[in-house]
Amino acid sequence: MVAQRDSRDSWVKINLDHIADNIQAFQEHLPNSTAIMAVVKADAYGHGAVRVANKAIRAGASWLGVALLSEALELRQAGISVPILVFGRVRSDDAGSAARNHISLTVFQLEWLREARRLGPKDPPLQVHLNLDTGMGRLGVREMLDLRAMVQVIQEASCFHLQGVYTHFATADEGPNDYFMKQFNRFQKMLAALKKWGVTPALIHCANSATALNFPAKVFNLVRLGISMYGLAPSEEMKPNLPFSLQPAFTLHSRLIQVKQLKAGEAVSYGATYVAKGKEWIATVPLGYADGWLRNIATGGEVLVEGERVPIVGRICMDFFMIRLPAQKDIGAKVTLIGRQHDACIEVDEVARLLDTINYEIPCMISDRVPRKYVET
Ligand SMILES: *Cc1c(COP(=O)(O)O)cnc(C)c1O
Repeated sequence: MVAQRDSRDSWVKINLDHIADNIQAFQEHLPNSTAIMAVVKADAYGHGAVRVANKAIRAGASWLGVALLSEALELRQAGISVPILVFGRVRSDDAGSAARNHISLTVFQLEWLREARRLGPKDPPLQVHLNLDTGMGRLGVREMLDLRAMVQVIQEASCFHLQGVYTHFATADEGPNDYFMKQFNRFQKMLAALKKWGVTPALIHCANSATALNFPAKVFNLVRLGISMYGLAPSEEMKPNLPFSLQPAFTLHSRLIQVKQLKAGEAVSYGATYVAKGKEWIATVPLGYADGWLRNIATGGEVLVEGERVPIVGRICMDFFMIRLPAQKDIGAKVTLIGRQHDACIEVDEVARLLDTINYEIPCMISDRVPRKYVET
């Protein structure tokens, strides 16, 4: 008998209803004709890809987006049948596997198309989305001549079907809007060229969460929602001006596993850097940097116990960290590291600020050693 992961006293709780609420709010915010792609790459930003995908589909998402072919195949193996787009570069010799599993691939290299045609998917044809690099500088076709040549190969080869054309914005989450508009105008210029060549793909898309929130009239017919589907703002700058409120889905919890009283001068954790000033109640929480609760959170970090904020003391260890309680508490008392207890709340964004990073990183970094539990009505 193998011990279950959830035999441990630390867990992530995902509120799937909040994900559905966020999708519904986007549907009301966006034009009626806009389809929603739920972006579930990186195990749904740490929320659990299969559970999130199923919930998002029930809430009205008609597409899924992932970074890797393996992530798409995992969704297919779980019985999910809606269209899936892979954003990353899949090897050309895996094109047949993608086609057979009805997985759409991002394309942006002429040579890739030639290789894939040779090794080829035959039946069904491979559905491809052309990625246009309008200023992100990451993946995508940059030159009109390259675009022309790629379109010719796609049109001539019966093993490909051009299903979509898209781009990705670098600055949709921050003002001023001039770089965004530069990218948007380049995208429109490239779309106009495609039209001139008789290419009219069914799907045109450019919007991540920030674009869908800030520019609902500039999203064409599909939006790719990641961070805000999970209930987080794409940037600190956008938080005060969101068009609707977002419901965060990700919370992180644990329980006290030891509570003891230290005397003045006694120390806590590696390096003995924290020293009790007087009699202090110190408790141990079973979560550490191997779980993604990084050492740098210790500086300024707090957690909630019985609705009160309490400080992390001493260095965070691989599997444990310590906190200072205002009074003795029971073993087993619930600790909330991210989320709400009574009137107190620690947001993902607060942990991101402590680590001098963005909220996207936080749920992604909580490792799969921490079991995910789901609430859904
Ligand atoms: C990750 C990703 C998204 C989602 O972005 P959010 O900012 O999380 O909404 C959209 N499009 C592409 C190409 C991506 O890689």
